[in-house]
Amino acid sequence: PLHLLKDAALLRVDALIDGRWIGAPERFAVTDPATGIELACVPALNARHAEDAIQAAHHVWPAWRATTAKERASLLMRWFHLMQEHADDLAMIMTAEQGKPLAEARGEVGYAASFIEWFAQEGRRVYGETIPTHDRDKRLLVLKQPIGVCAAITPWNFPLAMITRKVAPALAAGCPVVVKPAEQTPLSALALAELAQRAGFPPGVLNVLTSDAAGSIAIGQRLCISEEVRHLSFTGSTEVGRVLMMQCAPTIKKLSLELGGNAPFIVFDDADVDAAVEGAMHSKFRNAGQTCVCANRFYVQDGVYDEFVTKLAARAAALQPGNGFEPGVNLGVLIDEAAVAKVQRHVEDALGKGARALTGGHVLAARLFAPTVLADVSADMLCVREETFGPVAPVARFSTEAQAIALANASESGLAGYFYSRDVGRIFRVGEALECGMVGVNTGLISTAEVPFGGVKQSGLGREGSRHGIEDYLELKTLCLGGM
Ligand code: ADP
Repeated sequence: PLHLLKDAALLRVDALIDGRWIGAPERFAVTDPATGIELACVPALNARHAEDAIQAAHHVWPAWRATTAKERASLLMRWFHLMQEHADDLAMIMTAEQGKPLAEARGEVGYAASFIEWFAQEGRRVYGETIPTHDRDKRLLVLKQPIGVCAAITPWNFPLAMITRKVAPALAAGCPVVVKPAEQTPLSALALAELAQRAGFPPGVLNVLTSDAAGSIAIGQRLCISEEVRHLSFTGSTEVGRVLMMQCAPTIKKLSLELGGNAPFIVFDDADVDAAVEGAMHSKFRNAGQTCVCANRFYVQDGVYDEFVTKLAARAAALQPGNGFEPGVNLGVLIDEAAVAKVQRHVEDALGKGARALTGGHVLAARLFAPTVLADVSADMLCVREETFGPVAPVARFSTEAQAIALANASESGLAGYFYSRDVGRIFRVGEALECGMVGVNTGLISTAEVPFGGVKQSGLGREGSRHGIEDYLELKTLCLGGM
């Protein structure tokens, strides 16, 4: 599919360090998960390259932080416009290496670009403070200053947006960045880097390192132990997040972690059931269930349980799974065989413990899992306890509001949660009681650049997006002026 790109130069197959495209004798293949076909080979970089990138970023930092917020905003806006101009090509590259349907990829390009636009603007509103003094002789000020060189390690499920959500606030704040995209989706990251080059960012301000799985571990270690890197932002599994946090302890590095979720989706008796089914479809099947805010477990109250599962199963069965490039396809493949194996394990475990498959439950073709609805699931099943990251909707029954809240909160994760109700009192009670960073009330779609994104409990640290999303890239400095 990539020979159809309007601008073939977006298909970069080298890494970007200090403004130069860097190859390497060792390369690894990027494949299309829908067909298994090799798309390109990119450099398998190692810790030495990570150090080169850190040094480039460190070197450019004084000059970059000295630019005005307005100058940085114009560069970011140029980057934003370039993404919009090349949206079709970016979407094509993404679908090719990630597998999501082309329309979804197109949607992600817009979503990813929106963070650049948002933080270009927010960067100009990094206001400090003046504080009423405690002493006639003194004046008190607070400055907000860029934290320094930042590192970003990103996942494959949103190959562009997970990068821009970190890189845009860092750059807007005046910090240079070293990015290590997921090994499954480096081509989107490199296309983004190509557009950043065209936008005119100075060399070293944005560096993109490609690496295979082994190289990612080595590069991750180097980024963590580096004294020059002052902040690490990671989106990915809780497991890897824990490792990175430990590796960052010796340098007391500031961390932003966006880790796994296990989102509950509750439907109360007073809900608009059709709207709940619609919301469930968005929340569950977007990106074939491979988002950290995907509904992972459904709790439906007795009075609407049968209607909800029947309607959800009918809608799920009507999805069109397939290759994301084919017209009409609205459910793509999973990223790799390991992902399929996990989904299969969860479904088999549930069926073995008494759940009923109302639709799906099986593999359709290579890496393509049928949209699945499981009824009568219980708390001991893997699909309830762990994040499935696939197109499986497990549904359990409950009878009281207190029960629903207890079930929803019985998880070490706390990223997103959803519920449907038309009772305003219940909306406040449940909205306040859910232990998660984001709650969708009567909607299955919650994320946009304007609001804080992030989790509580073991789902992470910090918030991305919104006016808060730039704070992780800034340090507060108190100026206490005496002798007035
Ligand atoms: P996922 O389950 O979504 O693939 P991972 O947490 O395994 O999530 O991967 C997310 C990102 O973290 C990817 O860029 C991957 O290369 C990187 N990664 C995986 N393991 C490590 C590690 N030990 N150290 C640093 N980065 C890692």
